[in-house]
Amino acid sequence: MVNKMPKHIASGLKYLAAVKLKEQGHNQQKIAEELDIDRSTVSHYLNGRNLSWNSIDVAKTITDLYPKDFLTMVQAIIQDPEKSRKIVIICKKYEYDAFVDDSCIGCGLCVDLCFMKSITLVSLKAQINSIHCCGCQTCENECPTNSIKILEIEDD
Ligand code: SF4
Ligand code: SF4
Repeated sequence: MVNKMPKHIASGLKYLAAVKLKEQGHNQQKIAEELDIDRSTVSHYLNGRNLSWNSIDVAKTITDLYPKDFLTMVQAIIQDPEKSRKIVIICKKYEYDAFVDDSCIGCGLCVDLCFMKSITLVSLKAQINSIHCCGCQTCENECPTNSIKILEIEDD
């Protein structure tokens, strides 16, 4: 029973993601494609069937964690980098602004460290795609020249 828990919680996370995508106006087929699950499963999720509500509560708690912990938990539960990135992007609670200072020396460390694949090097300077950034601050903390600043965008 214990080893089934991650699977149940993964379902809870996918349920939350499906609900969010529905709120954004996506149809069931699109949601199924985004989450790499079949359409009948999406239908069950959106109708609240075949779900453990305890797992959904746990999944909600995970999305409330500090961003780095949220990312770590999703990685551990989903165990697939591409699917983890999707869930994190859809279920993250906040949006972020990312700034890279001119002191960037283009070493590429942040590119390698960013699990969300949000950073690229352009003309030997880091550029950050804020849409995919989950605010984990790994890049900010590890940059050898302190060139990165990640700021949460406050709701008005
Ligand atoms: S780790 Fe810092 S110095 Fe290196 S590429 Fe990224 S922003 Fe630039
Ligand atoms: S904070 Fe930095 S390392 Fe984390 S997701 Fe955003 S860009 Fe990537």
